[in-house]
Amino acid sequence: MHFEKIEGFGNLEMGYISDFSGGFISRNTHVLKRLELNRFTQFLLEKCVHGTPIFKLGEGNNKILMLSGIHGNELPPQIANVRLLNDLLFMDLNTTVYVIPFAAPKATMNNERVFNGMDLNRSSHIKNSLSNLIVESAHDLGINFVGDFHSTAYNSNPGIESVFSSKSPSPESYLMANYISKSMGSEVISFDYAGSSYKGAVEDVCNLKRIPAVTCEVLSPFAAVGEGSVDRSYWQMLSFLEYFGI
Ligand SMILES: [Zn+2]
Repeated sequence: MHFEKIEGFGNLEMGYISDFSGGFISRNTHVLKRLELNRFTQFLLEKCVHGTPIFKLGEGNNKILMLSGIHGNELPPQIANVRLLNDLLFMDLNTTVYVIPFAAPKATMNNERVFNGMDLNRSSHIKNSLSNLIVESAHDLGINFVGDFHSTAYNSNPGIESVFSSKSPSPESYLMANYISKSMGSEVISFDYAGSSYKGAVEDVCNLKRIPAVTCEVLSPFAAVGEGSVDRSYWQMLSFLEYFGI
């Protein structure tokens, strides 16, 4: 993947995961009205029209990925991740931080869970699916930890603020989940072996590739933004970063 230095925003670099997933995020009014529309955010929204951008900040041996928008209608983590990116722009980071705030801009634009009819968290094991391209890019970039941020509604699955992880074959997944749980109070949901209950979750496919990963969930209605949910998601992200000493 080709990364380009972006002038005017510190040491920011940007590349594209794909060029077939673009969308007008600003058409999703729930998202638009909660974004701080500064120069960087406007730049980001323009880039999302053409595909799925990935941003790179900092420099260090640990390379981590902050991912959101795998489900386009789970809005709080996507808004929180834009806030996080804005915060990290001019920071001196001892870790290489990759950020994908909108995994599927088209799905976010349409406020839909699926992208072109596909659940991206059940298809990342399928070659050349959008989420497979994300996992493969993470692997190629040498990313060694992944946080995938979602939201969940009451009476859905899991329906509680939680962190998914597994103990094998990437045991650090479980350690990261426990760290976030301890600082946030989010419930740990853990499986003995990644991907044993269903196939194709980004977290599981990463763990199976020996890239320790967690899926963080906050409570919010789907296709809307529950009160306090953006803050909860943002704090889960900070806790994930804190695990790596950021
Ligand atoms: Zn989700």
